[in-house]
Amino acid sequence: MIEQKKQVYIETYGCQMNVADSEVVLSVLHDKNYAITNDIKSADVVLVNTCSVRENAEQRVYGRLGKFKELKKQKPGMIIGVLGCMAERLRTKLTGEKAKGVGQIVDIIVGPDEYRKMPQLLEQAGGKAKGIAVQLSRVETYDDITPLRTDGISAWITVMRGCDKFCTFCVVPFTRGRERSRTLGSVVKEVEILSARGFKEVTLLGQNVNSYRDNEFDFADLLRSVAEVDRNIRVRFTTSHPQDMSDKLIATIAGNSNICNFVHLPVQSGSDRVLQAMNRTYDSAHYRRLVNAIRTNIPDVSLSTDIIAGFPAETEEDHRRTLDLIEEIRYDGAYMFKYSPREHTPAFSMTDDVAEEIKTRRIGEIMDLQRRISEEKNSTYVGRSLEVLAEGESKKSPDEWQGRTDGNKMVIFPKGDLVVGDYASVKVDRANSATLFGQLIPGSVKRTTTEAA
Ligand code: SAM
Ligand code: SF4
Repeated sequence: MIEQKKQVYIETYGCQMNVADSEVVLSVLHDKNYAITNDIKSADVVLVNTCSVRENAEQRVYGRLGKFKELKKQKPGMIIGVLGCMAERLRTKLTGEKAKGVGQIVDIIVGPDEYRKMPQLLEQAGGKAKGIAVQLSRVETYDDITPLRTDGISAWITVMRGCDKFCTFCVVPFTRGRERSRTLGSVVKEVEILSARGFKEVTLLGQNVNSYRDNEFDFADLLRSVAEVDRNIRVRFTTSHPQDMSDKLIATIAGNSNICNFVHLPVQSGSDRVLQAMNRTYDSAHYRRLVNAIRTNIPDVSLSTDIIAGFPAETEEDHRRTLDLIEEIRYDGAYMFKYSPREHTPAFSMTDDVAEEIKTRRIGEIMDLQRRISEEKNSTYVGRSLEVLAEGESKKSPDEWQGRTDGNKMVIFPKGDLVVGDYASVKVDRANSATLFGQLIPGSVKRTTTEAA
């Protein structure tokens, strides 16, 4: 008799590194004869890959676990696993009384460096023992595991794990451990395989990719080697820490046509006093010089950033400096957050003294300003023709594709006879703060895939 494969369902929260990690988990389980399902109701194993960066990210996961609790009532044999940063941070607390009434349903708890143990933990959980594996590693990179990618043309590739920066607000060094890099050879090999499968975009991931190191090779070497694999593949990367972004890296982006002209460069605050309290290890003058070097060397570059409003002891003057910096740099986009105190971080022992309504007002001012700038910048593209990669159907219309430019601008345009993975020129006729809209330029389609992906 053929044994029925166990069905695994996974939900992923947080950053792209978690998306990439979920693909590693699925690969490990697929190799051990589990089947992957998108239908939670048919699943034997339900996993949630979690984020701890802000309190509200954790609250969302508790909300989901509440829903899983109802499912488990109908299907008591269902195994529920919490993976990733919350697993690492909360450990056995996730199964305890204080776990917002959902502790009793959690069967396994697995930290980001323990995914190889998943099959064993699931087997034990089937025997009703609770499984927990949360050891952080100084060497684990999952270098030899090919992530299970189901999506067609864009791939996330984790090139380094962990973080040694210890920004005072950030839980990542505690939940993801110390920095370590994959070998350059293994990353290049992975891109070769993706190229052969018809992928059109890779994004190299790390909390601080500029710290990447494989013996004599640094991140610029890795980026160049990846770009050389297939010039029809767009290469993106995230995240760069402003302290470590080298001239060599800037020259590498400028010198390779398929490395996208897009840099995500989190500044966090425009105030030197706050940057110092955050242990960001640069000041605003360094940041401005860096932006200047990037813009001088990479024409038409798009820039985005991360901002935190309401860090402990942030004054109106500090906040004003952040607004001034945003106005001066004129980012193409930004991720903007209210400060959220995280247990065990150095900032947790500082008083969270910016009142909630002040944080809300400040983040509102930052968002309004950024929205205006994004809209102004996007409107300068009206009338221009841009090369766009067709990435998938527009969420609003089955007759339109959505795709992005080299500079990461989202563009909506009629499907014409394009297929996903084609490049084409689109003439922009309208724009808002988030999206450009346009028409296909006849005869501009570039199809670079020769065989079925
Ligand atoms: N490693 C990246 C870097 O340094 O830019 C980012 C990693 S973190 C997951 C993404 C962003 O979350 C940070 O850039 C920061 O703006 C924000 N963040 C991290 N900890 C936070 C906290 N305690 N409260 C609010 N935002 C936070
Ligand atoms: Fe967190 Fe700072 Fe590391 Fe980014 S660089 S992951 S913000 S500690």
